[in-house]
Amino acid sequence: MSASREGLFVVFTGAPGCGKGTQARILKQKTHVCHLSTGEMLREFAQKDTPLGRELNAALERGEFATDDMIIEMVKSRIDEADCQHGFILDGFPRTMPQAEILEEMLAEKGIKLNCVLEIQVPDEIIMERILGRYSCMKCGAGYHDKFQRPKIYGVCDACGGTEFTRRKDDNRTTVQNRLVNYRLLTYPTIQFFERRGLLKTVDGTGTIEAVSKKIDQILGVESGN
Ligand code: AMP
Repeated sequence: MSASREGLFVVFTGAPGCGKGTQARILKQKTHVCHLSTGEMLREFAQKDTPLGRELNAALERGEFATDDMIIEMVKSRIDEADCQHGFILDGFPRTMPQAEILEEMLAEKGIKLNCVLEIQVPDEIIMERILGRYSCMKCGAGYHDKFQRPKIYGVCDACGGTEFTRRKDDNRTTVQNRLVNYRLLTYPTIQFFERRGLLKTVDGTGTIEAVSKKIDQILGVESGN
């Protein structure tokens, strides 16, 4: 086993729509550590016109999880890459108990100690509204919301000036309901697992994006800046 590594190694967890991805992107901008979103990796994979790509695309549209084997392989090779050596924000992984147990083994082998597992807590009634209204710029990926975060100029991305936007195919009511059920059955036990390990921290995710980000910075000891 190698010596313990310095850096910021965190897991962002919570129900779909709790703001994991948004907050992970903000934290990445401040700390420059690698943001590793298994959902984004899978969506990219699901666009491929291959049997596995098509199968995965259908599973994601139904709100089903990808297999543990596939996800674990993806994460294992990704965290060995150079940009993850001094830290990472795991967003959407682990989502099942086998994934949590493998992560623990994997990190012990690499001499990495998690700073914490941060659960962003948001009640279900807010989640549905957040997910059904969200969309993003097709060019740069900046996130928006029909009600809570509109571009300053209608139809134009604040960040890059892009004019084409997209919504995730799995952001519809039926799929979100399935994703919430999977969260309770499969992901919630991982939160209890990390609590038993003394690694769990929780943050109220119902405020504005900036307010939640500030609270996360305090928990992680990161300078907030403006
Ligand atoms: P997210 O972008 O984190 O909301 O993930 C989108 C979808 O990708 C989820 O609803 C799952 O179907 C799938 N997914 C993402 N991460 C995982 C994971 N760790 N294990 C299994 N499926 C996952």
